[in-house]
Amino acid sequence: MSQNSSVFVSVLKNKCPKCHQGNLFSNKTIYQYKGFFDMPNNCPKCKQDFLIEAGFYLGAMFVSYALNVAIAVAVFVAFILFDAYEFLPFLIVAGICLTLSTPFILKVSRSIWIAFSVPYDPNAIKNYEAQNKNN
Ligand SMILES: [Zn+2]
Repeated sequence: MSQNSSVFVSVLKNKCPKCHQGNLFSNKTIYQYKGFFDMPNNCPKCKQDFLIEAGFYLGAMFVSYALNVAIAVAVFVAFILFDAYEFLPFLIVAGICLTLSTPFILKVSRSIWIAFSVPYDPNAIKNYEAQNKNN
């Protein structure tokens, strides 16, 4: 994988914010109920702590809210652009879009939230491996 992957791509792929290579979630598939939110305690590649503090991911709730509002507004704008706005069809289409995007939004909002706190370090894996050789 490229060393210079962007924060945006890392967030969308649910990768570790520090090294952009380790997976943030144990279960990579989006539409699998079992173990949906399971996260390793540390990044498998650079050992960045994923459970930074108790209740850390409560902040992801606000990110999730903003993304859901953005989807609802996008559906509303689409209805207006096609000059087809009526309340009930809008409610049904927006409900379907929000329901289908929920698993993706839930994971991506956690990924965005941890990316706010943990900066990218291109040498994270090298540093971790060097540290382990010394011990
Ligand atoms: Zn990592």
